[in-house]
Amino acid sequence: MTPEDAVPTDTPEDSPATPGFEDLGITGAVLKATRELGYETPSPIQAATIPTLLAGRDVVGMAQTGTGKTAAFALPVLERLDVSQKMPQALVLAPTRELALQVCEAFESYASKMKGVHVLPVYGGQGYGVQLSALRRGVHVIVGTPGRIMDHLAKGTLDLSELKYLVLDEADEMLKMGFAEDVEQILAQTPKEKQVALFSATMPPQIRRLAQQYLRDPEEISIKSKTATGTNITQRYLVVSYAQKVDALTRILEVENFEGMIVFVRTKNETETLAEKLRARGYSAAAINGDVAQVQRERTVNQLKDGKLDILVATDVAARGLDVERISHVVNFDIPTDTESYVHRIGRTGRAGRTGDAISFITPRERYLLKHIEKATRQQPTQMQLPSTEDVNSTRLARFDDAITAALAETGRIEAFRDIVAHYVRNHDVPEGDVAAALAVVAQGETPLLLDPANDSLSRSVEAENRPRRESSDRPSREPRTERRGRGDYAPYRIEVGRRHRVEPRQIVGALANEGGLGRDDFGVINIRPDFSIVELPANLDPAVLEKLRDTRISGRLIEIRADRGAPGRRPRDNDDRGDRSPRSDREPRPADREERPFRKPRHKS
Ligand code: AMP
Repeated sequence: MTPEDAVPTDTPEDSPATPGFEDLGITGAVLKATRELGYETPSPIQAATIPTLLAGRDVVGMAQTGTGKTAAFALPVLERLDVSQKMPQALVLAPTRELALQVCEAFESYASKMKGVHVLPVYGGQGYGVQLSALRRGVHVIVGTPGRIMDHLAKGTLDLSELKYLVLDEADEMLKMGFAEDVEQILAQTPKEKQVALFSATMPPQIRRLAQQYLRDPEEISIKSKTATGTNITQRYLVVSYAQKVDALTRILEVENFEGMIVFVRTKNETETLAEKLRARGYSAAAINGDVAQVQRERTVNQLKDGKLDILVATDVAARGLDVERISHVVNFDIPTDTESYVHRIGRTGRAGRTGDAISFITPRERYLLKHIEKATRQQPTQMQLPSTEDVNSTRLARFDDAITAALAETGRIEAFRDIVAHYVRNHDVPEGDVAAALAVVAQGETPLLLDPANDSLSRSVEAENRPRRESSDRPSREPRTERRGRGDYAPYRIEVGRRHRVEPRQIVGALANEGGLGRDDFGVINIRPDFSIVELPANLDPAVLEKLRDTRISGRLIEIRADRGAPGRRPRDNDDRGDRSPRSDREPRPADREERPFRKPRHKS
């Protein structure tokens, strides 16, 4: 049973199952912004969350990046925002500064049609000055990492007494990064009457407890996906960054043997821009989206059926129920916001008993979606390689040969040119082979026939993204990895918090990652001692990062980080490569642990 059984064929616009944002209670400037962004329909998490939040209820949402969860909480906040009130009304807590910035940008785009809305990112690693002056001027929405928000609260520079909305984004990640205490303190220090929305990809007991303690009768929302796809569809995926997608698609178009293709994108605007880019590269491509009038849409679909058009760039709404046998390939240029859409999209190929191919572009952050796709389709998509320049070139040469063969078959037209060529050969005394080559130059024009393999940065960067990983393709974790850099790549740094201060490795990782903008690969062994800790960070750490980290606090204590030059020949790892990463290795140093001594001496700050 495939989902299209439940969907009327070829009548996408009358489908009753498609409420718009206005049906969810979004109005005016906010609604206008979603239209401008090209959002056609709310994603499932949005459809479920927006009315609940607008009705004033707390929400616990199981949702991950890529599901549209940011708009699910941002739109209801903006819908009810009192722009005349300059004290912070909404606070979003996010685990990392990257996410904080991303959420901030999303808020700004959703508020682009409102006047005078101020959204402020507040994260570690950024100077306090900028944050303080913005806070003084007045902000409506703050998006921040828990550590820095706590710092502002402790300093008295952030007044949350008028807060109405609090969102915990990626709550499980925040806890993993050691922010549990900060999050709880923030929850406890904000007005009782606020509305709280908690989003988390997973629901470990700790999160449930948090929700029970701090949320009021929350509505639990999790989006279940339908399953099943025909086994006649081969699913492949390629990991690419957003910027590489157009070039990657062009290469795939060159080497894949496709007949008709649908390329799915997320927004209406993107259908137009991508179709235009493909036309500029010589493909017959057209855009269809929910704004395209029914007549025009039918005309376009008929062109695809008749082979006058090869590529449709479409949104989910526009392609609903589309049934064209010629579609041999579906490309998810953007992976959809839910698996149900994925299943429906790939079901546009493999029609009428044919086989079909589905290729999905996955950005590195979206890797975890593969697990969901596998579950929903009961098939494991296979990882594909970006076609190399050699692949492209051999395809181009084969096509070149085919074109000659095809032209030779047109005997009548060949006859007319034979005399002209013979005349040239006689008068210029040039071998026929040279004349044929010269004609190929004329036919080819300025564009080179072949790509230069020496000049192939695209392959190199895509290959790096697609290298097999030791870790599963699960959600990215910000815990330090067990797979490590080489020995010489790390240098030890001393921080003035240790076991006595009840510090745990994940708190250290969380604080340093946020304040210094470090990634999880930047952490080596973390060795927690009674009074201080030694953390391995990249040997080539930028001094500016160290400077930024100097004011970092963990468990309320200044960490006073500095390079630890220690004693020559010391063994900071206790012969245990895992160091103190896990509570398991959180043991007292052995008596023979000579490296402990040099650190005991008072040191001067470097
Ligand atoms: P998020 O899960 O919030 O990170 O959103 C993932 C991506 O989906 C972002 O690029 C959003 O702009 C986009 N997006 C969110 N909601 C919609 C929607 N209703 N229609 C199309 N795209 C959306």
